[in-house]
Amino acid sequence: MDSILSEKHRIVRRSVRSFCEREIRPIAGEIDKEARFPWEVVEKMGKLGYFGIQAPRELGGADLDSISYAIIVEEISRASGSLGLCVTVHNSVALYPILAFGSEAQQEKWARPLASGEKIGAFCLTEPNAGSDASGIEATAVSHEDAYVVNANKVFVTNGGVADICLIFLNTNPSADRKQISVVVAERGTEGFVVGDLEDLCGMRANPVSSIRLYDCRLPLDNL
Ligand SMILES: Cc1cc2nc3c(=O)[nH]c(=O)nc-3n(C[C@H](O)[C@H](O)[C@H](O)COP(=O)(O)OP(=O)(O)OC[C@H]3O[C@@H](n4cnc5c(N)ncnc54)[C@H](O)[C@@H]3O)c2cc1C
Repeated sequence: MDSILSEKHRIVRRSVRSFCEREIRPIAGEIDKEARFPWEVVEKMGKLGYFGIQAPRELGGADLDSISYAIIVEEISRASGSLGLCVTVHNSVALYPILAFGSEAQQEKWARPLASGEKIGAFCLTEPNAGSDASGIEATAVSHEDAYVVNANKVFVTNGGVADICLIFLNTNPSADRKQISVVVAERGTEGFVVGDLEDLCGMRANPVSSIRLYDCRLPLDNL
């Protein structure tokens, strides 16, 4: 690995490692034992760009390359698997899809606060009856007037207990024979959005992995 690192990558590694040794490693054991999400450190990580590693500068991101992304996740995970999990899920399966497929308005609304770490993201695919067989999901969105009415029971959601912006995989055409799987963004605080109990994990316990349920939750059509 060392041979492919540029001087810039080495600087990134040194600076992230130094942050992790100073801020994360000393509390890593305690936060895992107590299953506590360390907001005080997460806030500092946001200021350093760890929540918007590859997001463009115009949206408040650090605009780094994929190797830097791998280095940052590796270094954070070296100190705390829980926080490494938080950062990788947030960057790669919550923020990235919005950057890659979101409209300009969606990027402004969701990618910007995600990139700064002001808001935490989650990726909600797994359900009690659909894990490896992802196409088996039963969550639905039915359009009614100016909104989607969403019902979903998502489990094992990394960052679930703290996430503000959740990408929900669901079927947008439940009356048809063939599923039309789409992603709708649901924000914590919307009526019908419920965060379930945290999972009592064996490891990575400082990450609040939980279920997220949506009960007749009305989401704007623009959230698709
Ligand atoms: C800590 C943690 C965090 C997670 N975070 C997220 C998250 O953020 N978002 C999210 O959506 N999900 C998340 N998940 C869920 C994870 O993606 C699922 O657990 C995974 O997809 C497997 O699904 P399952 O648990 O239902 O197991 P199953 O699909 O029931 O699989 C159980 C076992 O059967 C095997 N198996 C399954 N199908 C076959 C087959 N056809 N042939 C042979 N063997 C098979 C599997 O390899 C596995 O060993 C998380 C899980 C954990 C433990």
